[in-house]
Amino acid sequence: GKINVALIFGGKSGEHEVSLLSTSSIYKYIDKEKYNVFTIGITKDGKWMYYDGSPENIENGSWIDFVNKNVEINLIPSGNKEVGIIYEDGKTEKIDVLFPVLHGPYGEDGTIQGLFEMSEIPYVGCGVLASSVGMDKIVCKKVFSQLGLPQVNYTDTNRWLFNKDEKTELDLIEDKLEYPIFVKPANLGSSVGISKAINREELSSGIKEALKYDSRIVLEQGVNAKEIEVAVLGNEDVRASIAGEIKPAKDFYDYEDKYINGASTYEIPANISEDDMKNIREMAIKAFKGIDGRGLSRVDFFIDRNSGEIFINEINTLPGFTNISMYPKMWDKTGLKYINLIDELIQLALDSKKLK
Ligand code: ATP
Ligand code: MG
Ligand code: MG
Ligand code: MG
Repeated sequence: GKINVALIFGGKSGEHEVSLLSTSSIYKYIDKEKYNVFTIGITKDGKWMYYDGSPENIENGSWIDFVNKNVEINLIPSGNKEVGIIYEDGKTEKIDVLFPVLHGPYGEDGTIQGLFEMSEIPYVGCGVLASSVGMDKIVCKKVFSQLGLPQVNYTDTNRWLFNKDEKTELDLIEDKLEYPIFVKPANLGSSVGISKAINREELSSGIKEALKYDSRIVLEQGVNAKEIEVAVLGNEDVRASIAGEIKPAKDFYDYEDKYINGASTYEIPANISEDDMKNIREMAIKAFKGIDGRGLSRVDFFIDRNSGEIFINEINTLPGFTNISMYPKMWDKTGLKYINLIDELIQLALDSKKLK
């Protein structure tokens, strides 16, 4: 029989819209001979809704007007209700595998993965630990550093410290780093809340902006660098794709460039030396294994244009997943087609259940 897959999309996240694009793409391409697809939307204020309409309405955001409110989603084993999709007549459809097509907070950060663990339904991608470590730029840097992975200099601050004594905090940051400084919310993605500060005023306003998204902030030494990305796939047996290069259209690869005007270009494989290519692919696997990764991740790097140094920037445990996103494109160039990639991710989820 067919395998029941539930795509979970939207979510209480600054990356809600990105998830809609990733989901409609997976929905369109997934092998429908093999999988029955169910779609569960999460609104921006966190309400779960069963949706059984077209992928186009997911993509354009109008799905919310077409939800099926007679159908209940139950992920909590309660003793008097089955886990799965419960229809009006009480009939329950079992979910074989959950596919969180969510990015950012409440989707990529281990929170929903914890719920999935409780439901005992296999799910695509990283577990609780890897998701939360990968999402938290401050903790992740500490783990990468312990693994001996090279990184740019950084420091951090938080709302409480900054509001208590802004001047001291700015002084401390300026002692450690030189302009330009990248200001980032600790837990987010898609460049939301990120800015590049070239002086103290911009540093201050950048931190205030980032504090709208998170109470913890990371500050990084800005580098003039090539941006290289690698796709990683697997559970115990992990492989890395050939690396690609992102060429942002503007000063840096911001939200607008990523999803609105898409003016950036890319090159796969990246035009880098064989040594760098090998090195970066190995580092990507090391980072993935080091955070206890499972399923998939996209690992982002910088190669300094002046010194040639390689720095790991970050790991994204649920990277953008439209058919034209970097993660699937890098696999495609490595010889794994989008439809087969989706298939493999679901199989990895089903296998990981057996590993426990
Ligand atoms: P995503 O999860 O979508 O990949 P993100 O929100 O986690 O993105 P980063 O990848 O950390 O954010 O940073 C976004 C972009 O900002 C990078 O792709 C790069 O263009 C620029 N950037 C970030 N940090 C630095 C840095 N230290 N030096 C130079 N550029 C940087
Ligand atoms: Mg990221
Ligand atoms: Mg991300
Ligand atoms: Mg990134």
